[in-house]
Amino acid sequence: MRKIPWHQDADVVIIGYGAAGAVAAITAHDGGSQTIIVEKQDGKTALTSSAMAAGVIICPNDLQGSRRYMEALYKVNDGLYWTEPDVIRAWAQYTSENKTWLESMGGVMELNRRGGAHNVPGFESIDIYRFRGMGFGLMRLLRSHVDKRNIPVVDNTAATALLLNTEGEIVGIAAQNRGSGDKVNIRARRGVVLATGGFEFNEQMKLQYLAVHPCYFTASPANTGDGVVMAQEAGAQLWHMSCCAAGLRMKFPEVPSAMMPALGGKHWTSPGQSVLANFGGAGLLAQYAERAAAVAGYIVVDRDGKRYTNENFKVSSVYYELQMYDSRRLFFPRVPSYWVFDQRRMNDGYLVGRSSGAAGPGRLYDWSPDNSKELDRGWIKSGNTIRELAGKLGIEADALAATVRDYNRYCKNGIDMEFAREPATLIPLREPPYYAVQLWPGGANTQGGPRRDSQARVLRADGSPIPRLYGAGELGSIYGMLYPGSGGNLAECIAFGRIAGEEASHCRPS
Ligand SMILES: Cc1cc2nc3c(=O)[nH]c(=O)nc-3n(C[C@H](O)[C@H](O)[C@H](O)COP(=O)(O)OP(=O)(O)OC[C@H]3O[C@@H](n4cnc5c(N)ncnc54)[C@H](O)[C@@H]3O)c2cc1C
Repeated sequence: MRKIPWHQDADVVIIGYGAAGAVAAITAHDGGSQTIIVEKQDGKTALTSSAMAAGVIICPNDLQGSRRYMEALYKVNDGLYWTEPDVIRAWAQYTSENKTWLESMGGVMELNRRGGAHNVPGFESIDIYRFRGMGFGLMRLLRSHVDKRNIPVVDNTAATALLLNTEGEIVGIAAQNRGSGDKVNIRARRGVVLATGGFEFNEQMKLQYLAVHPCYFTASPANTGDGVVMAQEAGAQLWHMSCCAAGLRMKFPEVPSAMMPALGGKHWTSPGQSVLANFGGAGLLAQYAERAAAVAGYIVVDRDGKRYTNENFKVSSVYYELQMYDSRRLFFPRVPSYWVFDQRRMNDGYLVGRSSGAAGPGRLYDWSPDNSKELDRGWIKSGNTIRELAGKLGIEADALAATVRDYNRYCKNGIDMEFAREPATLIPLREPPYYAVQLWPGGANTQGGPRRDSQARVLRADGSPIPRLYGAGELGSIYGMLYPGSGGNLAECIAFGRIAGEEASHCRPS
């Protein structure tokens, strides 16, 4: 085999400087390894999904309970798992240490909520904390630790390939500077950690792997699935490719990332995000019932002007309800969907969630507090009557008028006869003008990528580990179809970042 010319070397090379990459780098360094981070974006302007996040993090309070919870979510039948029990065990062990680990780094953790999804066994072991300073603060803290340790960050440089020796071991990476175009090979004496995020901005991958198209994400546009390609070329097996933490999102051509709709308005926000759309919404609704009188009504309808779901849907899984395809008409009738509301919701402030994402810490768009700018842009359609609004949306007027009439009747009676929507949220639409915004399948992130085991080792198609290759973060996340709840992905970044960093730094040097 041709000898690889090395331009730089380290014990452990980390690809991607989001939360997972940063945690892996800190851990590998503290395990005694000389570590380098390679990051595609320019360090000064880098925008990671980790920094755009709301900073909510699962920190289980009980190991056995959290294992039960995860097994309930990822066991399909006795012989078939989305995620094997030993990987779940590693997740439970390490995520149970998340809070302590982050506090040991100087982070401040505030209890956000006790309990995961109430219908899942073991839910009471899932505590959810918010990192003070949210995703942005988390990344600032992690970066300060990287700097303190003098871990070099080779930025503006995209990893392009994993380099293997004749024994099939990963021995380094190829990368290219995005400014000068210079190519470099960086040797990794002990291991490489792939932490490049998902494929939220790779249209071809989304078309091939997700079950509905288009699908728009609130993530960083830098997440173009590079790690998936590099891992495939090195012989990795992929998993969870069809899985997403996703629901309905707003997307406008002028802003690269999708945005979270604040469906119920500020009286339902926690903050910026509609409680109605939260995971475990029904449980939370009880807490917020007192505020119900102040809440503005809304419904979500399909292209035929019909409701198709209980709008107390889970923010991270209603996505799966959008995949219904009409093979006679040759389109997805729920894509786009329409969020329909009245002047009361309009008066209630920002239609966008600002606690995370593009209109929040991502600072990709400055949404007007009274929504007037977005109305002028045509992102929000309006009509003095429901029929007039339907005309602007291209929906049959009789159909939308009938839907609103039925919905208003359910509100009057306090019972949703079609979808059993939470009674406290049955607020009629009756204050014209009426408004609508398109909603698309989408969410925070994809979960798919190279399959990993309990030691964060990336696996080949035959299930054997690719020597010296590790995975962390949302790239090849351990989460299958159902998301464990708010705070799942950052929890995994920290847990598997630590596992990958420890394991890579324990490898015998090549
Ligand atoms: C708006 C929003 C809110 C969210 N809120 C939460 C929350 O509150 N709690 C939660 O648990 N999860 C949340 N999530 C999900 C969570 O933030 C992400 O899943 C997680 O941060 C991903 O971290 P990561 O380190 O895997 O990847 P990222 O943070 O996406 O970092 C990946 C890095 O890899 C770099 N990269 C990509 N390709 C290459 C390459 N070829 N070479 C070198 N570098 C490369 C990218 O530039 C990027 O810097 C949210 C996501 C979004 C978008």
